[in-house]
Amino acid sequence: VAKEQGGNTYRLYEAGMDQAAQDILALGQALEGALERGELSLFLQPQVLMQEQPRLIGCEALLRWQHPQLGFVPPDRFIPIAEKNGLIGRITHWVLEEACRIWAGWRDQGQSPVPIAINISAAQFQEPQWLDAVAATMHRYRIPAGQLEMEMTESSIIQQPESVIALMHSLKALGIKLAIDDFGTGYSSLSYLYRYPVHKLKIDRSFVNRIDTEDGRAIVGAIVAMATSLRMRVIAEGVEEQVQSDFLASHGCIEAQGYFYGRPMPVDQFKQLLRPLGTPILAKAQPLPGVS
Ligand code: C2E
Ligand code: MG
Ligand code: MG
Ligand code: MG
Repeated sequence: VAKEQGGNTYRLYEAGMDQAAQDILALGQALEGALERGELSLFLQPQVLMQEQPRLIGCEALLRWQHPQLGFVPPDRFIPIAEKNGLIGRITHWVLEEACRIWAGWRDQGQSPVPIAINISAAQFQEPQWLDAVAATMHRYRIPAGQLEMEMTESSIIQQPESVIALMHSLKALGIKLAIDDFGTGYSSLSYLYRYPVHKLKIDRSFVNRIDTEDGRAIVGAIVAMATSLRMRVIAEGVEEQVQSDFLASHGCIEAQGYFYGRPMPVDQFKQLLRPLGTPILAKAQPLPGVS
């Protein structure tokens, strides 16, 4: 209606907005130039194999926005706004570029890289250039297959038309691993899951959080069983305590991401967790008997 009347109607409408709506508008405007002003950065959170000596097997890239006046704005606040005002596309391209740059930096500095997972919004599937951009960026940084992962929530996949399945296959053919994020919070059913070329389920942290309840344990157990029967990997999000890790490991989920193992951290700090290239995985590799 505002659009049809044109002119000053927008301003009148804005004046009538409540505080929450004003804040969202202001945040969206502040976000406009955030990339150019260098206010966005990626933090990396470790993903580990849960064993006596937890082993680093990957990481998730998480956006951080530091605004000079607004201070730190959490992604749960600004990502939904970026998804509505159309900025998410440019932001996602930047995240892709940055993740590849970080990975290539590790390789070029003689560190043993681990795969990096980035988060993808539903809108990205609708962007015709996305696949080409991914291919070009991976090529430019010489990222080998299996080193870049994309996380999508269940709901963002289900909302999509059949054609995204083709796109997902094309991404897979480029060597991208696809993971379903926040698994269990959407509307999954086995009947649709098996159709998607997904390689990993990420158990939502709300369930991991409830491992101290019977319901929580039942849901976590069911998700692990589902992943296993679909031959997918499974990782638990939000592991904060030893008891959670123990329950998960004894029920067949051996991968985890959570404060218990490491918080999201600046890239420089994360680099300290990587091994120098060529370091054997076992700290003291014993020569095999009969060899030499
Ligand atoms: P997500 O993808 O599910 O990421 C995991 C979130 O859980 C992160 O929050 C992480 O800091 C938090 N987390 C990890 N371990 C623990 C734990 O043990 N306890 C608790 N309480 N929290 C834990 P963060 O970084 O605030 O990100 C929130 C969400 O924002 C992400 O959820 C994701 O949906 C979105 N997001 C972040 N970066 C991006 C991005 O580059 N693109 C898009 N589209 N979304 C992003
Ligand atoms: Mg994620
Ligand atoms: Mg998640
Ligand atoms: Mg989430």
